[in-house]
Amino acid sequence: MRVGFGYDIHRLAPGRRLFLAGVEIPSSIGPEAHSDGDVLLHALIDALLGASGLGDIGQMYPPEAERYRGVSSRLLLSQALAKVKAAGFRPLSMDSTVVLQSPRILPYVDRMKENLSADLGLPMAAICVKGKTKEGVDATGEGRAVEAYAVVLLEHL
Ligand code: MG
Repeated sequence: MRVGFGYDIHRLAPGRRLFLAGVEIPSSIGPEAHSDGDVLLHALIDALLGASGLGDIGQMYPPEAERYRGVSSRLLLSQALAKVKAAGFRPLSMDSTVVLQSPRILPYVDRMKENLSADLGLPMAAICVKGKTKEGVDATGEGRAVEAYAVVLLEHL
């Protein structure tokens, strides 16, 4: 068994689309990013790569690489999972927390879990997405950033 942990943060800006686990959440602000800025998937990818001894998302997808501009993070996740499997591991469960002052993500959590279930090949019961605000504290609490934390458990194939 291996445990992996991942974290990500993106600045929020007006007029950007907000995706979390591939679900578009109606919002007047969204992440500034080279890709689609899906912080939850980026944290999850880092957790998967970390648990497998494969480094991190920045090594796999250098921000300066033009071919990743605007790319769906679900595609990046599928590529990361292929590397995880090639390294001899498969996921058993994941847990995560998204920190976002607004909007509230609860109405979208089930759809996010459905995407994660499909992408990770796990039952819904093995996946958790929790939403937290930052109680108005710091830049994230002021609505200027979105953060995500993710943990995965892997087993040897
Ligand atoms: Mg990111």
